[in-house]
Amino acid sequence: MAMKLNKELPRPGELKAQYPLAEELVRRKEQRDREIRAVFTGESDKFLVIVGPCSADNEDAVCEYVSRLAKVSEKVSQRLILIPRIYTNKPRTTGEGYKGMLHQPQPDKAPDLLGGLIAIRKMHIRAMAESGLTAADEMLYPENRSYMDDLLSYEAVGARSVENQQHRLTASGMEIPVGMKNPTSGDFSVMLNSVQAAQSPHNFLYRGCDVTTDLVRLLELYEKRDLQYPAAIVDANHSNSNKQFREQVRIVSEVLHSRRYHPGLRQLVKGVMIESYLEEGNQPITEHRIYGKSITDPCLGWQETERLLYEIAESV
Ligand code: PEP
Ligand code: MN
Repeated sequence: MAMKLNKELPRPGELKAQYPLAEELVRRKEQRDREIRAVFTGESDKFLVIVGPCSADNEDAVCEYVSRLAKVSEKVSQRLILIPRIYTNKPRTTGEGYKGMLHQPQPDKAPDLLGGLIAIRKMHIRAMAESGLTAADEMLYPENRSYMDDLLSYEAVGARSVENQQHRLTASGMEIPVGMKNPTSGDFSVMLNSVQAAQSPHNFLYRGCDVTTDLVRLLELYEKRDLQYPAAIVDANHSNSNKQFREQVRIVSEVLHSRRYHPGLRQLVKGVMIESYLEEGNQPITEHRIYGKSITDPCLGWQETERLLYEIAESV
């Protein structure tokens, strides 16, 4: 077989016991999850902003970023819920390049998966402890999410994964919101099929077990309230901006404009996703990297991000 077993890794329960979440943070996450869920069920008309670097490549820079976000969050909390984007698993178009902190806790060093699992758990816990904000990450490998499921308030299924059955079935058993992207072709029907699949109960194999998922609570609430529209979060970067990161400002403003004049869209679009970091743009992975500058997709810099967040809060 062309696969060599290097070593067995600790189970999620072992790592959780080794790097536990403090009791007050467990409660904080419950509270955040309730607030975020209320947006999707329509009980709250707050607007969600998922914002942060394309890839969370450096614990200090990410925690500094998230702490800055927390200060803004205090000022806009009547209108917005800020969810830090702390993406530690990076899908790669050709399989080449930086695959995220999970694979490479040091971006310019060799992969270290155990080191990566520990590093991402520690980073998410520290970011939460320092900011009081619970974060979003990408669910790139569904079987790994048990290492992080006590920490995250939102998980995204990326463009390259949204047609994958295991992602869809796993999402059907998750209690937090799962963002389904449209695929790289842009086809909305693939995304909607994915939402439909994730909103149905399933019986499947997961982490070596036969499991059954129930209808997600959100769907029941949708039905009870006879909501006409599913929820959408608009990604302001990637294919929408053509990775012209400054365009995110215009795209967000157009989304907000459309929401203002179209009640259906107002109900449908519950938030935006912005790629942003301490420094604007991006850079190659070299030895002397600029602190807080993306090593994957180009990001909006902090000052412009802060200004944009206040603008969103004003006009939402
Ligand atoms: C991303 O969010 O940075 C990303 C690569 O997204 P997707 O996988 O959806 O293209
Ligand atoms: Mn990106």
